[in-house]
Amino acid sequence: MHKYLSILILLCTTHFLIGANTIAENNPPKKKKEFVVMIDPGHGGRDTGTPGTGRYKATEKDIALDVSLALGKMLNKLPNVKVIYTRTKDTYPTLNQRAVITNKKKADLFISIHCNAQPGKKGTAYGSETFVLGLSKNKANLEVAKRENSVIFLEDNHEETYAGFDPSSPESLISLILLQEEYLDQSIEIASYIQKEFKVTAKRKDRGVKQAGFWVLSKTYMPSVLVELGFLTHKKEEDYLNSKRGKKVMTQSLYNAVKKYIELHTQTSFESDNVVIDENEEEKEKVSRVVKGVTFKVQLSASSKKISTKSYNFKGLKQISREKAGKIYRYFYGKTSDYEEIKRMKEVAKGKGYKDCYIVAYKKGKKVSLGEVLNQ
Ligand SMILES: [Zn+2]
Repeated sequence: MHKYLSILILLCTTHFLIGANTIAENNPPKKKKEFVVMIDPGHGGRDTGTPGTGRYKATEKDIALDVSLALGKMLNKLPNVKVIYTRTKDTYPTLNQRAVITNKKKADLFISIHCNAQPGKKGTAYGSETFVLGLSKNKANLEVAKRENSVIFLEDNHEETYAGFDPSSPESLISLILLQEEYLDQSIEIASYIQKEFKVTAKRKDRGVKQAGFWVLSKTYMPSVLVELGFLTHKKEEDYLNSKRGKKVMTQSLYNAVKKYIELHTQTSFESDNVVIDENEEEKEKVSRVVKGVTFKVQLSASSKKISTKSYNFKGLKQISREKAGKIYRYFYGKTSDYEEIKRMKEVAKGKGYKDCYIVAYKKGKKVSLGEVLNQ
């Protein structure tokens, strides 16, 4: 009896093993398809995007590129995720080229990254918003689309490439929208993850998920969104988006949102790798305050002697300039329109032993009072 039972168990086990083998052979584990994310840093090259308040050298195109590259770097580390970009440098691919390459690479997700601008001089609007393609009667949404599309008119042959495209005309948009309709639900889904992250992780004002007629979104055949990180026409938000920390937090928010979307759409669960944001980092980073039309220098000394401006004559300091006024020669260190930068340079000079050095300001070649230019 006992022996019989053993054989039976053995038979069953063998059968099970054979069975399992057969199943495995007939269905070899499939290599998972790569999830391709196309990141589109808005503008580039001669198309600067919005200049913001004009206090910074960096414009929309620069911030968009910084955040795009940082986001791509993070996403590329996820298994089975591949990131491609429409540009990685300060170049301008046309809107059409961006869409064509995205379709050709069969991207699973298209994210265009931009910064916003408020028309007029108020500079009161702030916050982050994410757009999907759609018809809009809302004037503010139309303004954003108009601005982001306007680059079309800088392109050669635009009449041919963008024939009859008018974002404010429903007739012009409707056929384009039909082509994107298939992906609209997923576009709204990723847009809402992004907005949630902007609100919760980055603590930005959430302006919501919106719809409007963006040319670049209308020509990509996959879920597609256009992100407006914030307003460069709003001083505080512009400061934030120009800061290292601001860019890092916005990148992290986008990363969390895209990661969540990929997890849900590929039934994958990535290891949790939420980066903790270092609160002290802000203090360490460089701030800048550019005063247009003004040159700041650090005056090191004045003397009746003419000294060569070589660094060995100035305790190793470079960027030395000399100016003659009457019989006196003045010696300066540095030359910049950035007041914060010159303040840092003054500290450097003090550290080298120029204890009594001070900042001077020049406007159109003439010396002006510091107080006057800083309050202009
Ligand atoms: Zn833009």
